Amino acid sequence: MTDPNCIFCKIARGEIPAKKIFEDDDVMAFHDIRPQAPVHFLLVPKEHLATLYEAQPAHQQALGKMLAVAGRLAREAGAGEGFRTIINTGRVGHQEVYHVHMHVLGGPEPLGPMLQRRK
Ligand code: AMP
Ligand code: ZN
Repeated sequence: MTDPNCIFCKIARGEIPAKKIFEDDDVMAFHDIRPQAPVHFLLVPKEHLATLYEAQPAHQQALGKMLAVAGRLAREAGAGEGFRTIINTGRVGHQEVYHVHMHVLGGPEPLGPMLQRRK
């Protein structure tokens, strides 16, 4: 349900501050603390879920809502001409925070390539 040591659970519980832009019973959105694009916020399920590996049908409502509200929130945040969504999973995906989160990145100018090409 909630993990006492998880940073995004702490944000969801209001124990540490975040620049929140949306919240309902299932999900929360807040600006990334180290933005990598002019628009960079995170959408997270309120309930603790470490990675997409642990996702079950019971998480569908929250995970679906993360996608369903992303466009509106991106537009409201200033990314009206496109954005990118990323969910990093596990070591190979470079996941740093083990509470599922979807990055929403955008800005007035097109973003760089999705992945750095290997030489
Ligand atoms: P990931 O590599 O997908 O796990 O990325 C984790 C993201 O969480 C990074 O972009 C961090 O900048 C961001 N982050 C970590 N702590 C916080 C925080 N307290 N508030 C907002 N964003 C955070
Ligand atoms: Zn958590």
